[in-house]
Amino acid sequence: MKHEPDSRSFLGALTSRVLGGDAITFAEAARLVEIESSADIHDLLAAANRIREKFKGNKVHLCSIVNAKAGACPEDCRFCAQSAAYDTGSPRHSFVEQEAVIKAASEAHANYAQGLGIVAAWRGLKEGPMLDEVCRAIEALARSGTARADASLGIIESQRVADRLKAAGLVVYNHNLETAEEHFPNICTTHTYADRVRTIQFLKHAGIRVCSGGIFGMGETRRHRVQMAFALKELAVDVVPMNFLNPIAGTPFENMTPLAPLEILKTIAVYRFILPRKEIMVAGGREVNLRDLQPMIFVAGASATMIGNYLTTTGQDPKKDLQMIRDLGLDPDWGGHWDDEEPQQSHACEVCTPFSAAAG
Ligand code: SF4
Repeated sequence: MKHEPDSRSFLGALTSRVLGGDAITFAEAARLVEIESSADIHDLLAAANRIREKFKGNKVHLCSIVNAKAGACPEDCRFCAQSAAYDTGSPRHSFVEQEAVIKAASEAHANYAQGLGIVAAWRGLKEGPMLDEVCRAIEALARSGTARADASLGIIESQRVADRLKAAGLVVYNHNLETAEEHFPNICTTHTYADRVRTIQFLKHAGIRVCSGGIFGMGETRRHRVQMAFALKELAVDVVPMNFLNPIAGTPFENMTPLAPLEILKTIAVYRFILPRKEIMVAGGREVNLRDLQPMIFVAGASATMIGNYLTTTGQDPKKDLQMIRDLGLDPDWGGHWDDEEPQQSHACEVCTPFSAAAG
């Protein structure tokens, strides 16, 4: 899209429609994602910022994760440091004790994170002793009252497994589509895009909130990025994590060219146009790919981010992240309600206050 009057009027008309509650079409999103000039991209970011403000206010939703079972994963996801198929030197350990989860939850809460995701590197979950152990950890996290019980535990093999997780107190499950359906075979061969969609359907049927997005910069086209956004819209997921590839030495994607910061910001903005009411969470790769432009994720339309470390790479100091959010006039106190619920009491409560004070 060239920087010309009709580009401006196209963007203006689209913005008015989204602010008025209408959806944009695939063709319109495909045109937005092809914007090239920095002046036009800056206009797009400003428009996405207005849409974020309208639907998400000034609240920022923060989440943290704990690497509960690391490395030696039998899957072959080509971006992943934890796959046993690649020699990455990434740490390996079996499922952690409950105390480690509770400690991570306290740290997450001190950093204003609403949820703590228990993350495991394995194919997924089926009925058996491992599911029993995972459910005990979820129950302990839910009982602790320090952070919402979230998890990312791979492919779910049956509805009964999803129902068990729900009964244990799980609120949110992360399971990314990773990329567009037609690009998926280029990033993983040991399971399919359809396996991932089926897991999301089990979760939704169990009444578990779904966090699903993907990784950008894995050789996909811009059109693939738009396709994934519309697939996520169709699946009616609750949170959309956007990760930007941080190439890991030893993986097949180690030499992948990182996306340019403006390309990343433009992609976030296009996702805000397609998914105006969703929590759009910028997750892995923020620091390394955006560098000094990190605060721009919120201007581009993001309403959420990860705080603390990632699974195999280090995040920015949480204090710096909280300062960045406040300096932008945003509030790291999410308020704890979903699009389909009435707003509830926010972060401050008798249980939370000591942690909030410690973080401030
Ligand atoms: S399933 Fe998860 S942990 Fe295993 S290789 Fe794929 S991304 Fe990595």
